[in-house]
Amino acid sequence: MPNTKPRVYLSSPHMGGDELRLVTEAFASNWIAPLGPHVDAFEQEFAARVGTAYAAALSSGTAALHLAMRWLNLQPGDEVICPTLTFSATINPVLYERARPVFVDCEEQSWNMAPALLAEAVEDRIKRGRRPKAVILVHIYGQSADIAPIAATCARHGIPLIEDAAEALGATYGGRAPGSFGLCGVHSFNGNKIITTSGGGMLVSNNAQLIEKARYWATQARDPAPHYQHSELGFNYRMSNVLAAIGRGQLRVLDERVRARRANCEVYRRAFADVPGITFMPEAPWGRSTRWLTCLQIDPIAFGADREVVRLALEAENIEARPVWKPMHLQPVFAGCETYGGGVAERLFERGLCLPSGSNLQPMDLERVVVAVKAVAKRR
Ligand SMILES: *Cc1c(COP(=O)(O)O)cnc(C)c1O
Repeated sequence: MPNTKPRVYLSSPHMGGDELRLVTEAFASNWIAPLGPHVDAFEQEFAARVGTAYAAALSSGTAALHLAMRWLNLQPGDEVICPTLTFSATINPVLYERARPVFVDCEEQSWNMAPALLAEAVEDRIKRGRRPKAVILVHIYGQSADIAPIAATCARHGIPLIEDAAEALGATYGGRAPGSFGLCGVHSFNGNKIITTSGGGMLVSNNAQLIEKARYWATQARDPAPHYQHSELGFNYRMSNVLAAIGRGQLRVLDERVRARRANCEVYRRAFADVPGITFMPEAPWGRSTRWLTCLQIDPIAFGADREVVRLALEAENIEARPVWKPMHLQPVFAGCETYGGGVAERLFERGLCLPSGSNLQPMDLERVVVAVKAVAKRR
């Protein structure tokens, strides 16, 4: 019998109260594109929120990462150190610039890049005469990595630190926003992120030249001239004024969205407290996670079934759940890239499951998830 229960999504868009009014404003002034006053305002409001001097609104987080890579002036074969536990969008821009990712494993404490292993990797690359051109640090699933020791390693060796905070808007590290510590930071407003413009991204930095250059590259690298004049390779990476209007509305409700996602996680934690074999992604002591996604690990022996059995049981109930990111060093597209460690990420992938986590989930939706997971636990 086909399942007629409404689908519970992993993380679906959740509009607040102001987006439609702001978009209507853009329509009323016919300021649909290109750029426009909402783009300028969104950049200013966003920079103020994350605590950087500047921000450039772009078509995606991937575009923001790509422009960060361009700023590094990478040469073919240059190396960029990246975490292995992430989404492929972190890594692809390294390859757009013909550079090579070198992967570093994560730590148990935060699921983010392990600081000691990064220091080891950097020293080893330097010893081999392959000084890394940058470190890309990802803040995974709404939780900041341990930035201080990683930034210290980068500073000690004069290596730029780029932060991929696409999943961590609203999180804190010692009270500050991840993405505001390195040379630049990247955010995403893709449809499943904590706030969305349907699609979009932001590059943030305290470096005025970097942001100015990113805006220039993102608008086809048009030189100041009355005719179309180009002395550099350009891209079409700017955000439209309509989407910036949505972003401004979304930014106003960010704190509510963080609270709702953290509350989801609390519901799951309480519900599964007495279920053997389930452990949650830890919240590290250095800051506040947004719990963008509630992630857990399922120990197949203690629980009595592995995470894929649980995922399929949820799917049978029309509930969307996803395995934790498959590590990049296991991806065919990145085959042959050097990797430091990898075992922690591999185990998190094998056992890890992301539960429905949207800020618009209703108590009934969460209850359906809980009941479905517990039903698998009882089967054994
Ligand atoms: C979503 C995401 C990106 C890419 O952002 P887009 O706006 O979808 O291009 C990059 N890195 C991570 C870790 C992400 O989760």
